[in-house]
Amino acid sequence: MGSAARAMKTMGLTNLCLVNPIIKPDSQSISLAAGASDIIKNTQLFASLEQAIADCTLVIGTSARSRSLQWPHLTPKECSDKIIQETTNTRSKVALVFGRERVGLTNEELQKCHYHVEIPANPDYSSLNLAMSVQVLCYEIRMSMLNLDDQRSELKSNGNINSEFPVDADIERFYQHLEQTLLQTGFINANHPGQIMGRLRRLFTRARIEQQELNILRGILTSIDKKL
Ligand code: SAH
Repeated sequence: MGSAARAMKTMGLTNLCLVNPIIKPDSQSISLAAGASDIIKNTQLFASLEQAIADCTLVIGTSARSRSLQWPHLTPKECSDKIIQETTNTRSKVALVFGRERVGLTNEELQKCHYHVEIPANPDYSSLNLAMSVQVLCYEIRMSMLNLDDQRSELKSNGNINSEFPVDADIERFYQHLEQTLLQTGFINANHPGQIMGRLRRLFTRARIEQQELNILRGILTSIDKKL
């Protein structure tokens, strides 16, 4: 925790959230944080990943290896450019999610992320320790931030700057609603749900649903519910 906090602060990032940590921030983490102990002291604790990312519009998970279900994938540079691009819209909060030192993130946690980012390390030994991966990815974010002005002018010329993305909690509610409706229509069999919801999540995360589009999708589901 302390080394991760130090890695963040050297790169200009401050908001460290911990999900259900085995050990709460203590004197050892404060001493490893050195001059970044303020980040440790301001750490926010959450009981679940879902709660930690509820107010985020963009969630990027980190992983040292690709999992069974292929997910939209970013290089570290694409990841940091996307984060900077997203935060030019002031309402947006983004999360970069790191996993447990020993086992990383679960598939379920990775499926809550819009994208996955992997540091292209040695394929024979690709797992960095947690704080070092925080350092590498935060360094990339800093590089993108230093290019912010270029990015902003590019964004303006692309006309992207006004698109509004929903927060994660709203997208989660949409998935719950979608699943309920598909169970009711019988499209999903409650006893054999298979991978349908995982694949639909992948489809919608790839599309990066905008707020208005989400409203339309919810409206469609509600109209189906009414007919049923
Ligand atoms: N066996 C675990 C490794 C965990 S390493 C796994 O395969 O996921 C601890 C954390 O450091 C990971 O969850 C991830 O957040 C980060 N990390 C380590 N190596 C990484 C890499 N090459 N790319 C991206 N993140 C990495």
